[in-house]
Amino acid sequence: MLLTLYDRDTKKIYDVFAIDSGKRNDILLEQPVVDTPESRPLWWHVTQEEKRTLLLTLDSQEPENYSKYEELLKGTWGDQSRAETFLLLPMKMFTRVVGSLCLTSSHTDAYSPEEILILETMVQIITVSIENAKLYDRSRQSLLKAKQREESLATMNSALQVISTVLHVSELLQKFVENVANLVQAEMCTFFQLSTDEQELVAQAIYDTTGQWRNINRSTNKDEKHDELIEMIRLPFKGSILEHLVEDETFFYLDSTMVEELAQASEEGGVIFLRETHIQKMLMIPVRYQMEIVGILAIHTPHSNRTFRPEELGALLAISGQAASAIRNAQLFEQIQEAYAELQRMDKLKDEFIVTASHELRTPLSAISGYSSLLKRQSGRITPQQILRFATKIGSATQQLSDLVSNMTEAAKMGALDKKLELQLGPVQLLTAAEMAATMLSINIEQKITLHIEDDIWLQCDAMRLRQVMTNLLDNAAKYSPPDGRIIVTGSATTLSQLPEDQVDYTQIAEGFDPSVALVRVCDEGEGISPDDQQKIFEKFVRASRSLTTPIRGSGLGLYICRRYIEAMGGRLWLEQSIPGEGSVFSFYLPCIDPPIGKSVDDEPE
Ligand code: ADP
Repeated sequence: MLLTLYDRDTKKIYDVFAIDSGKRNDILLEQPVVDTPESRPLWWHVTQEEKRTLLLTLDSQEPENYSKYEELLKGTWGDQSRAETFLLLPMKMFTRVVGSLCLTSSHTDAYSPEEILILETMVQIITVSIENAKLYDRSRQSLLKAKQREESLATMNSALQVISTVLHVSELLQKFVENVANLVQAEMCTFFQLSTDEQELVAQAIYDTTGQWRNINRSTNKDEKHDELIEMIRLPFKGSILEHLVEDETFFYLDSTMVEELAQASEEGGVIFLRETHIQKMLMIPVRYQMEIVGILAIHTPHSNRTFRPEELGALLAISGQAASAIRNAQLFEQIQEAYAELQRMDKLKDEFIVTASHELRTPLSAISGYSSLLKRQSGRITPQQILRFATKIGSATQQLSDLVSNMTEAAKMGALDKKLELQLGPVQLLTAAEMAATMLSINIEQKITLHIEDDIWLQCDAMRLRQVMTNLLDNAAKYSPPDGRIIVTGSATTLSQLPEDQVDYTQIAEGFDPSVALVRVCDEGEGISPDDQQKIFEKFVRASRSLTTPIRGSGLGLYICRRYIEAMGGRLWLEQSIPGEGSVFSFYLPCIDPPIGKSVDDEPE
């Protein structure tokens, strides 16, 4: 006996049960023999075409039957050619073939018409049961699928809700990668943002269940250092395969060859990410906001060659689309918040400035009005010496007023930090500029200024502005020091790379080219500046908190103006060191040039 089933989904024939000479083939139950209709054309023809049972007599009286039906008689159930009777009962549901039941017997005319009728009825019942079982299985599977779809829709919905409600960019991105990884059960998900110059993709958030990158997960570690670590993972974009693929595709995969190609064009952080996360196949989804690329979502499971199913891709594309506008909204919100905070800070500064300025203006003004009314009232009685004293007082108060007004006008004229200042650059000898500033100041101050400046240092800068910077630094050194404090100015030639690391502008150091610069340091033995105030003093209108409570005049504009001028001349100015009660060192550097031909070191530079 042989029971054969046909599966119309897979279009395969399965022999599932066989008995040969009374012995059951047990292996079939576990492992049915699989065939195709093409390799069993006769079986296919008989079950498909013959409507009724096939009954054959195989003995010597009908020898042609054996050769004609050989395909049916040999196979899984052994060789049935010795049988006398062969019976094949097709199992059909309407016109659809479900299978067949074949029986052989060593007797001639083994099956009577009544027996065949009973067998046919039995086969029909089996057929209906098999079909029912299949139907049940199918509806169970579609139910299961519907449930899965429902579950993934719910996950997606909650993911969408989460990312649409977060307004903090880095928190939003972390939630985004986390939810995406959970949605498709991926072990790693990274969001890369396109840099503003569109040259590279910079990692902003990583979700990783392998634990390798867990220590730089933003949601668990809000330390700025960790953010910097993530941002070191950079992939090249402009001109790389990524740029072309992003242009044409809604999603694409990177295989290990492409990953290696990218790694070769990447910096260290990118190389570590690409080589050490064992990428075999990584799904890349460009995240676009109104056609404009915001970044790329990269999803993969280490060591896995996974291809995502269409419904998974659909969900990922939907969530990425939603994330793009959420990211843009959050970025806008942060910008507005920053602008608002800046506005508030400026407002506070303005209030403080009004207090400072009115105090600064009132002091010389009251000196002027006081001394002039004294002059008026006592005009008949005062000596020429007293007149000279009052006039000097009025003169210096007027000078203070005029300095203050000119500083305020100058700072206002400078405009925004990114505004380019108009300067008149030319060769200037550092020593001469420093000597002029020191001479001008020494009339008004009690401290002694000592210069240690190499006389062959020439700078390409604006002579007037350089003198103004030097005067300002020296004036501060004197203002904030005791009368017996020493003020020392040093000036030496060096190269950019020799300067303190945090002051070097590395973009100016090309391969094999290290520009010559002059380093100027103004050292005093004054009151110093508290660590809290050290960064703030370079801002407009900011005075160290200590200076606000002393009678020392100032507007908080000097260092701001100096820094702007030095930067406009291609250098930098910074507070090198300041110890409260011991003194401060302000330093700046400017680019050096060779002494101009024909100029001796003693020449006046202008
Ligand atoms: P100001 O007109 O107030 O001197 P600056 O911009 O020149 O404005 O300086 C800002 C603040 O920095 C000063 O108010 C003072 O508190 C501090 N400062 C500047 N130079 C020195 C210095 N050499 N020693 C101590 N404090 C200083």
